[in-house]
Order: sequence, then structure tokens, then C-alpha cells
Amino acid sequence: MSASHPRPPASSVNAAWQQRSVASVWHPCTQMQRMGEVPPIAIARAHGPWLEDHEGGRYFDATSSWWVNLFGHADARINTALKDQLDTLEHVMLAGCTHAPAVELAERLSARTGHALGHTFFASDGASAVEIALKMSFHSWKNRGLGDKREFVCLRHGYHGETIGALAVTDVAVFRDAYDPLLMRAHVVMAPDARQAAAGESAAEVAQRALAELATLLESRAGQIAALIIEPLVQCAAGMAMHDAAYLREVRTLCDRYQVHLIADEIAVGCGRTGTFFAFEQAAANNEPAIWPDLLCLSKGISGGYLPLSLVLSTGAIYEAFLDDDTARGFLHSHSYTGNPLACRAALAVLDRFDDEPVLQRNRETGALLTAALAARLDGDARIEHVRQRGMIWAFDVREAHAGVRFAERFHLAGRTQGLLIRPIGRTVYLMPPYLLNDEHVAYLAERVVATLNSVL
Ligand SMILES: *Cc1c(COP(=O)(O)O)cnc(C)c1O
Repeated sequence: MSASHPRPPASSVNAAWQQRSVASVWHPCTQMQRMGEVPPIAIARAHGPWLEDHEGGRYFDATSSWWVNLFGHADARINTALKDQLDTLEHVMLAGCTHAPAVELAERLSARTGHALGHTFFASDGASAVEIALKMSFHSWKNRGLGDKREFVCLRHGYHGETIGALAVTDVAVFRDAYDPLLMRAHVVMAPDARQAAAGESAAEVAQRALAELATLLESRAGQIAALIIEPLVQCAAGMAMHDAAYLREVRTLCDRYQVHLIADEIAVGCGRTGTFFAFEQAAANNEPAIWPDLLCLSKGISGGYLPLSLVLSTGAIYEAFLDDDTARGFLHSHSYTGNPLACRAALAVLDRFDDEPVLQRNRETGALLTAALAARLDGDARIEHVRQRGMIWAFDVREAHAGVRFAERFHLAGRTQGLLIRPIGRTVYLMPPYLLNDEHVAYLAERVVATLNSVL
């Protein structure tokens, strides 16, 4: 214990857990020195969108617990599926064995791509899925005699996870800078983030500028470049930076022209978050046939926020590049818990929800209510800019002149007193709620977010 950690007195059950946590748990994405000012909220139980502490305090989970929870906490259907799976098969290795939850999940995800992405490789966390996609891309080119293609391209302010390989294609300074000397070099090109629009410039025109920069790079180095990795439609960790869907279509065209794989990191934007099950479904122009990336990464919401699960979907062309008598030409990535049956079963329960209920339609309707409720309170508010929405993601930026120091932390703390779990990214305030909004939730969220804003500014 160090004297530099001021501690609140353990006068309550909440405070006792906070103290024990700060003493023993190294919290992620956290300056532990500030835990005195910002102690972790001790959560005892959760139900629907509500998190509850040990003394009955309630918080609306406005960020779906770091974007993973889709149908609320303690969801009856997912709970039932998991209890059944627990008494049937908790885990077995996926090398040399197989099991129904993994097979069914792979089949059903493939079907959702019209079988364009027909092969599923399993892991447990998003960063690993990204690394698997990078390795697959490089190794498949190598197996085809193109071993020089070993460089990767990513977008300005893109985020793909924080292990060493994933961090190499991540361009978020706060996560990256300290470890930069350890990282493989990647090409970073302009993002299509619509907030960069000059006066009179449209989102589509910003995307065109970004595409021109990408085209120039591919023109000169395609022989060395294995893949481009992007977050389709919304660069979430960049501060919910949104772009025009036409960007995806044109990126696909460029990647085809220069023989570069396109990796869609849908870890945050997949599973209905942007209004379609896969964000990439919005890439095709109206009435045009669907287009797909070469590799697609999913994690976060796929297991409903219950268990760690990630996966990479691949085209037949990439998969076939590994088929050979020689083991060394196979895809070599071993992970102990790959295809864990409990996690896969949770994911199947999530897919059941999408199959049996009009999830996306309902989100469009309830989402419109939240959009209207926020607009009624924030329209014309000179303290904020770039009010935006895509599917079940809402965001606005507080202008620099109003934000002041430690804006995100102050907003988060003020949110707690309003019964919200909300964590801005820099000056970006965002909502990424579970897919169960009713009228009461909509009113609560809109009211409390604006009350929080008013108390901080
Ligand atoms: C969260 C996230 C990751 C990393 O996933 P982890 O499970 O945290 O490793 C990668 N890419 C995107 C787009 C993400 O939002």
C-alpha cells in the first residue's frame, strides 16, 4: 500500500469493496493514482440496463459495459441457454474435437454473410481476433508465393486492440505512445471521419479525400502490403467518428484493384450496433449485390456481454490458400479456450434473439425516440458540436472552450450522481445503450445526460 492512495473511510459496504479493489485489483485503462478521486463503483448485481451497487444505488449502463452487452444484464433467454450448456459440456479443446455450439455458430454466421465468409476461426478477445486476421492475411499471401506482402495499412485514430500486434495498427496516442518502440511499423492513412469537413464540404467529400490518400499509397506499395484494416461506419474508440457508407464500397474497389486484403474490424460495430447485423452490409449501394471484406472480426456483443469470445470470418479464397499436405502451410494459431462451448452457446442465444424478434426494427423505432428526446434538449446548444447518430450509437463533442480540464473524468463522476454509468472519450460524450430501450429508459437517458452536462459545464 502506498500513502499516495487516499482512501475514503470504509463506512459502507460500497466503500469497503472500493478500498479492497484499489488495494488488490490493477484496473484497466485507469491511472491508479487517481483512484482516491475516482474509486470504482462496486456493483453487486445487474438486471436489464441497470447496475446496482451494494446499497441499492442504481446506474443505467449507458455504455453497455464497454460495448459488450446487447440485451441487458441477466437476460432470461441467455441465462437459460447457459445453464443448459453448463450441465452438458462446459469446454473441450477444438483441435482434434468439435462440438455443436461451435459448428452451429460458424454455420449461422456464415449464413448471415450469404456464405461469402464461410470459415470461422475462434478466439476469446478482440485484440486476438485482429492479430489472427493480420496473420491470416500475411500467411495466405505467403502460401501463394507473395511473401513480400507483409505490411499493413490502418486509419488515423483507428483502434484495433492493445496487444503488441493489434496496437501496431492502432492509432490512438494515449494507448500507443508508451509502447511505440515495441511495435511493428504500419502505414497510417487519413480516416474518413466526417468531423474533418471543411466549411461547405460534405461527409462524402471527406471520404473522397481519404480514399485518394489510400489510393496513392496502394499504387506505390501494393506489392508489399498484405491488408488494410478498418472499423466500418464508426471508429468507436476514436470518439465515435462516423463516416459515409460509400467509403466502404470504394475501399473494397481499391483493395480489389491492388490485390490487398480488406479486414473489417466489427468488434464494436457488429451485431446490430449500426443498424444492420454487420456494419459492412451497408456498404452496397441500393439494390446492388452485397459486398464483403476478406476477413471480418467479431467480439464484444457477439456473446451478449456474458463471456469472452471473438472470431474471424474468412472468405474461401483465403481459407484455400492454407490447404496443403504440409502442416507448416496451415494456419498456425493455438489458443487454449478457442471455441469455448459456453461462450458459443451465449452467442447462439444472441443470434436467436436476432432471428426470433424484430431487434433491428425495434432499435430503429426506440432509437428515433432517443434521438428526438436528445434533440429537444440539445438543439442549438452552443456548448456542443457534431451531434451525430448511427444505429444505436449517439454522440456529441463538447467544444474545447467549454470542456475544461479532465472533462471526461468530471463528466463520468457527475454521471454517477445522476444514476448513469457513462464514460466520455476525451470531449466526446456518447451513448451506446443495450437494445432494450423503452419510453421510460429514453426519458431517463435524455434527461440525465443533459443534467450531467449542465452540472459539469
Ligand atoms: C474493443 C475493440 C477491440 C479489442 O477488443 P478486446 O476484446 O478489448 O481486445 C478491437 N477493435 C475494436 C474496434 C474494438 O472496439
